[in-house]
Amino acid sequence: MLEAKLKHKMHRTTYLNILILGFSLILSSGIHHPGFAGSKELKRETLTAVEKHSQFLIDVSNSIWEFAEIALLEHRSAELLVDTLEKEGFRVKRGVAGLPTAFVASFGSGTPTIGILAEYDALPGLSQENLPYKKALIEGKAGHGCGHNLFAGGSLGAALAVKEIMDKNRMKGTIRLYGCPAEEDVGGKLYMARDGLFDDLDACLAWHPDYKTRVDVKGSQAIDDMEIEFFGKASHAAFDPWKGASALDAVEMTVFGINLLREHVKPSVRMHYVITQGGKVPNIVPENAKLWLWVRDSNREGVKAVVKRIEKIVEGAAVATGTTSKIHYKGSYHEMLVNLAGSEVLQKNLEMIGPIKYTQEEAAYAKRIQRETETEEKGMVCEIKELERLVKDPEGGSTDVAEVSWITPTLHISTTCAPFGVPWHSWAIVASSRHSIGHKGMLLAAKAMATTAIDFLLDEALLLEMKKEFKQKLKGYTYKSGLPPGQKPPLRVKKN
Ligand SMILES: [Zn+2]
Repeated sequence: MLEAKLKHKMHRTTYLNILILGFSLILSSGIHHPGFAGSKELKRETLTAVEKHSQFLIDVSNSIWEFAEIALLEHRSAELLVDTLEKEGFRVKRGVAGLPTAFVASFGSGTPTIGILAEYDALPGLSQENLPYKKALIEGKAGHGCGHNLFAGGSLGAALAVKEIMDKNRMKGTIRLYGCPAEEDVGGKLYMARDGLFDDLDACLAWHPDYKTRVDVKGSQAIDDMEIEFFGKASHAAFDPWKGASALDAVEMTVFGINLLREHVKPSVRMHYVITQGGKVPNIVPENAKLWLWVRDSNREGVKAVVKRIEKIVEGAAVATGTTSKIHYKGSYHEMLVNLAGSEVLQKNLEMIGPIKYTQEEAAYAKRIQRETETEEKGMVCEIKELERLVKDPEGGSTDVAEVSWITPTLHISTTCAPFGVPWHSWAIVASSRHSIGHKGMLLAAKAMATTAIDFLLDEALLLEMKKEFKQKLKGYTYKSGLPPGQKPPLRVKKN
């Protein structure tokens, strides 16, 4: 379908040039031109630009899949992206926000400034061959179990296509690709947002591999990340236990309190924890114990209210056990601020491109993964979901993309890159992310984001409408980072 359209386009080059000239004139006069007929042609050109790069983008995503570098160690992945962008004429700032594997690449000048986010970190222990059944490539090594190699390739593809269209048509504005490391760990965007790297954006686009295709207007949960530490007194657990005060008892009481609290929180709240330190040996009363806790809800206010109650539980546990406590607040994410005005445009572009088509081999590969993971054999589900406008609570889960959404209108899209319903963060996603079933979703995301970025560059009124909605939803709030003051990103050194 697309091919036919593109071939047709080749015969209309002259017509196109006239249109582009018209564009430049109208743009330079600063007059808004809603629904200007030429935008259709430019979008077709944009799709051609992504298509032209498709094999290269597949190669880049496959290389990042092979590097499989975990959070804060994504050196080769970042370098590959930076190298490409520099060769394509982007100005690149490396190591931004104190993160060696973060970067900002810009092309063009002046406003509007449109951002596109890229991620490229892998997950530990998920090494997997490019096969539809579980088989480690290198036992114990990392793998792209969240498809971030595709995330990188798709966002790179969008940035390259937009750059090409801007360059060719001498369009005013700036396109920026943000290399955002450590999404699976400390959340690189949290540090990049705190350091103001998104402050001058007029709009931002992001995507994520999924097993469905939709523009995301469901939002994401706000989260507080904290570690609760108790300090007691050590003693012999059999000879003189009365001299001791157990920090582990305090952790246990806290956990008991949190679990009782579950009955009295809203259904949208999620509280989950692990005990990271509980003592050394049974015959020493534990002097030190730690609990790592995440609290989530549909918005920051909800999280704050629950955290206040947990602080009381911690105090109570310390009093009851004769210990002292300290809460280390490690950071928090906002909930995603959805922008419907922009999402509608993204939806239109997605529908214009149309759903992915799969070959029989691809469908069979997908079904084999589903069989192996005891998932219903639905194959690939690629129909484009309608935009859901009225969503009360987001699905469970949080993302650092949400930080950007409180700084500039931010749009998010999911595309089908894996068989429907298979467990995420598992070998099944690694097996999909180096296969054509993943590549096709990556290219769809690149096309949807690139055409939407073109809309932003051309349509000043659209950006104004998005900003109006953004401002209304902010309700006077100015973005404040959830990071403790002065906190530096933790750096990691590669161990062999
Ligand atoms: Zn992810």
